[in-house]
Amino acid sequence: MKQISDLIVPKFANWFSIDLLQNNKIEELVLAHEDPEMVVWARKYREAYPTDMNDDSGLGGVLKSGKSNFVPVVTEDMILASTSNKEQLRLLEMMKLRSVLIVPITYKTTIKGAITFVSTDQGHFYDEKDLEFAEAFASHIGITLENAHLNEAAEAEIVRRREVERDLRITQFQLKSALSSGLAGTWISDLDTETIFMDENLSRMFGVPYFPEGSRQDIIKPMIHPDDLELIQPQNHSILVEGQIYEAEFRVLRDDATHWFFARGSLELNEQGKLFAGVVMDVTLRKEAELALRENEKRFRFLADAIPHKLWTSNPDGSVNYRNQGWYDYTGIDNFDELESRSWDFLHPEEREYIAMEWSKAIEQRKDMFFEHRLLRHDGEYRWHLSRFSAHRDDKGEILLWVGTSTDIQEQKENEQRKDEFLSIASHELKTPLTSIKAFNQILARLETEGKTKNFINKSAEHIFRLERLIADLLDVTKINAGKLHYSFENFSFHEVLIYATENFQYNDSHRIMVQTSADVIIHGDRFRLEQVLDNLISNAIKYSPGADQVIVKSIKEDNGLIISVQDFGVGIETKDLDKLFDRYYRVDNTSMRFEGLGLGLFISSEILKRHQGSFWIESKPGSGSTFFIRLPLAEAEPVRPPNKTMDSYVDDQIYIRHNKKKGRLDVSWTGFQDKDTIKKGCLLMLDYLKYHQLSMVLNDNTFVKGNWSDAVDWVGTTWFPMMEKAGLTHFAHVFSHSTFSQLAAKKSIDIMAGIITTQYFTDLPSAKQWLDEICPEES
Ligand code: ADP
Repeated sequence: MKQISDLIVPKFANWFSIDLLQNNKIEELVLAHEDPEMVVWARKYREAYPTDMNDDSGLGGVLKSGKSNFVPVVTEDMILASTSNKEQLRLLEMMKLRSVLIVPITYKTTIKGAITFVSTDQGHFYDEKDLEFAEAFASHIGITLENAHLNEAAEAEIVRRREVERDLRITQFQLKSALSSGLAGTWISDLDTETIFMDENLSRMFGVPYFPEGSRQDIIKPMIHPDDLELIQPQNHSILVEGQIYEAEFRVLRDDATHWFFARGSLELNEQGKLFAGVVMDVTLRKEAELALRENEKRFRFLADAIPHKLWTSNPDGSVNYRNQGWYDYTGIDNFDELESRSWDFLHPEEREYIAMEWSKAIEQRKDMFFEHRLLRHDGEYRWHLSRFSAHRDDKGEILLWVGTSTDIQEQKENEQRKDEFLSIASHELKTPLTSIKAFNQILARLETEGKTKNFINKSAEHIFRLERLIADLLDVTKINAGKLHYSFENFSFHEVLIYATENFQYNDSHRIMVQTSADVIIHGDRFRLEQVLDNLISNAIKYSPGADQVIVKSIKEDNGLIISVQDFGVGIETKDLDKLFDRYYRVDNTSMRFEGLGLGLFISSEILKRHQGSFWIESKPGSGSTFFIRLPLAEAEPVRPPNKTMDSYVDDQIYIRHNKKKGRLDVSWTGFQDKDTIKKGCLLMLDYLKYHQLSMVLNDNTFVKGNWSDAVDWVGTTWFPMMEKAGLTHFAHVFSHSTFSQLAAKKSIDIMAGIITTQYFTDLPSAKQWLDEICPEES
């Protein structure tokens, strides 16, 4: 356009412009003048006085009529007539118009725009020849513009075609690969002639011969499952509407087997008639999996409903999504939503809060749990149940769902109660005649001082004594179960009790009882019950060491407590049995046949010790013997050493905590006897230091821990570890104590929170340090 303008201006015209009509608006394509400043000025003028499209003269007129406007000489009158105010007049006069030619640009019959040539006073006056030239020029421009337009459209069309071709290629490729799998085929049906054209694949899939020239539509009919025939005759169906997608799933009976097919197609109406075409896929595998899943679910529901337990499942967040028939039968409610909205009402008010707490704890800590509670039956009776929640996890340990069961244990509970009542009555009833037998036996012993009968009398006295103890144990257990074992507390010298208890055994034939005691201490407790504990331990030591000849009983004062130990050199106990010995009626398998007993002595002893704030632990080696330990708190405790505390470390009698700056971790070492209180206190201090220094690693050294702190296990596992995790703990190295019971307690508490924090057990401190060092090498 610049080249054209240069040819025209100023030789043929002083002003030259090409204006195009776009959507009935004028758009300037070219505006040229020798002086660029004049171009700027002209544009301003055009903005201020735009061309009036309704005007019959000037540019507007040409654009409207398509006829040229030729003004060989512009007179002052003409200028005056075409202006509306003085300012416009002044401006027009500045342009010094002398002669004007405006010619339309047309293509075929449409007006595309106009070209204006203006001659000013330095120029010349246009004549007919100039008009001819101008019109020829305009028609040229028209053709050029149209060509340019066509080119643009053609280019766009080429791009569009390329895209369509590419899409088509992709579709063809997809179709080809689908078809090459042999699991998909295509068809075209001519609904007017009822002819079907199936490709080779589809023919094979239907089990009919392949006819490239097409076959009758009903060729496939015999192959279709009778119940599905309707589906593949869509011409009978209202679903087959032009422009809508047809989809159907149907069965084909081929090679004595049922195959599932999925068809997708559409109807097209064109000059050739009604064409119905599409793709069919073999979906047998998916369908079979689906059916198997449904079957499985049916089976699961049947099983779930058949079991005599109440069962439910819930999403990982705890919202229940299924309950088995047992719930509906038990509660008398027959719909899931109502059961859900009232589920908490069925719990006994005394246990509701506790269960809600445990349940949210289980979800938060993602761990299984179980407990006993009462559940309301439809007839208004509360019955005891044992409920368990367990998490079903995927391969990565993520919880998929929770499964809960509640088992009615009312009868067991009642039986247990009846058994306890029976034991209580029976032992009372046995006690009375036994007391008489004992008295008569004592009279006989006094009357008969020598000879064979004396021996028999002594033997029967021994058996009477054993029987007496068995009955006493049975009575005690029933009392403990009913919470009726009475204690009378007083301050007494423990030394006296110890001597008294051991003296009872000094006259046995097989073992010597060696007593080693340090200074006497005052204990606050029930002296007879504590004597009973010693009695039980010493008699066990004798009983379970048939090949040995001595039992060592020691008592020493240590860390504000009295430690009493009873050591034998007998059969010993395996570690796996150790912490079960205190359960009611528990007897180690390999001893139960060889030694008589009821498995009650240690249960009663541990109950007595609990009431004395005492603790119990055992060190044992199978084949070498066992040592049973008791720790009793002293009545007059010595004042404890006040803690020494700074921002970086803490030390008291039980624990030493240090911020190890160099290694970026918390170093903790515990010392001496620990119980629930000392463990809690020390653990909370560790939490404070971990938070304060923003640490993620802990070296927890238990090497010097003594005794048994099993009553703190639950708190450590379920409360403290999660708090530590929240505070940033990621790695926990634990060095075991030498005490087996302390080891058991540590393992249990760490196992409770397994998976949350990376933990590792060690038997020596250097290996634990090395493990932590390797996780986070020392900063240089
Ligand atoms: P009982 O001795 O009547 O069976 P206890 O409650 O006193 O009941 O002991 C429970 C179990 O602990 C015993 O059956 C035995 O297996 C084991 N046990 C107790 N003391 C010893 C010991 N000193 N040595 C080995 N095993 C022992």
